[in-house]
Amino acid sequence: KESTARENNVAKIKVVVRKRPLNRKELSRKEEDIITVHDSSFLTVYEPKLKVDLTAYVEKHEFCFDAVLDEHVSNDERSSPCTSAVPQMLQLDAQVYRETVEPIIPIIFQRTKATCFAYGQTGSGKTYTMQPLPLRAAQDMVCLLHQPVYRNQNFKLWLSYFEIYGGKLFDLLSDRRQLLMREDGKKQVCIVGLQEFEVSDVQVVKEYIERGNAARSTGSTGANEESSRSHAILQLAVKKHIVVKDTRRLRDRDANEAKNTKAVGKISFIDLAGSERGADTTDNDRQTRIEGAEINKSLLALKECIRALDNDQIHIPFRGSKLTEVLRDSFVGNSRTVMISCISPNAGSCEHTLNTLRYADRVK
Ligand code: ADP
Ligand code: MG
Repeated sequence: KESTARENNVAKIKVVVRKRPLNRKELSRKEEDIITVHDSSFLTVYEPKLKVDLTAYVEKHEFCFDAVLDEHVSNDERSSPCTSAVPQMLQLDAQVYRETVEPIIPIIFQRTKATCFAYGQTGSGKTYTMQPLPLRAAQDMVCLLHQPVYRNQNFKLWLSYFEIYGGKLFDLLSDRRQLLMREDGKKQVCIVGLQEFEVSDVQVVKEYIERGNAARSTGSTGANEESSRSHAILQLAVKKHIVVKDTRRLRDRDANEAKNTKAVGKISFIDLAGSERGADTTDNDRQTRIEGAEINKSLLALKECIRALDNDQIHIPFRGSKLTEVLRDSFVGNSRTVMISCISPNAGSCEHTLNTLRYADRVK
């Protein structure tokens, strides 16, 4: 069948690495760029080392991934009939979008659940990379809703945005209300009380994203510090609206909602906690230690789930963490996963960079 063939064209798991440029601080400290991207899938890390007698040498580490994006990949123009009227801002990061999310969008309309993760140490570019992706995806999805094949299907697009912080769930679009998870009879995960908003144009999507971003964890220690300890999850779901004729059977508004919509497919964009935070398990501060342990657990569980998925294992170890439990329905059946591993180029980040690349390597 044609649709099956099309679905199969999109790899089940794709691992993309993105290297950011040296920043101003690193340049002013004359830090060395130790990463060379050779072609679109191959890179080398030149690790500075010292021998016992303190003579310096370099250890080479080579890695190969589905795609490697170097520091020059950022602003790339694209013109398609759907995006011609789109403001300049949305044209940013088009190449990243093309390599990661774009191929998945059409199959979301064919019952696929997809997840796109940004993994890496704090400051490596996760948020920078993720920010434009849901916007571009929403733009393409809205465009597809209006295509002749889907126009009469009564499909609608829904957005939700929440955060996992210290093992707890918070709705970023309703005053950080704490959310609970429930499993229904069909083993479907349901986040009780999570607000979903119907979105039909990109401008509205942008406003929700900005509102959610403003609600992300910011403690006394500053924005990036705190948000680096949380996973932010933005979901775009395609649902089919069914016209219910017999309304006597519906008890309340919730039942009404539930019976009137049927999930088709969805894509989750996940800005993961800083990978180095998983090592905060020996910190003096108790709270930091607890959060570090939770992050460590979730990143390990995530790797295990993706590997199980790749090996077509029947048992997927979701229960390992809150993060994987929440994503449970995205790890079963017909699903797609894109991992974007973000790396810093400076010598000072070498250890974290190698950890990130090894994690990505094991996922593959
Ligand atoms: P993270 O979310 O991983 O902690 P950020 O996305 O906040 O990291 O990035 C850290 C800083 O580096 C930000 O100021 C961001 O604008 C900048 N940056 C990240 N990636 C790039 C890139 N590819 N090109 C230019 N600047 C980048
Ligand atoms: Mg960030």
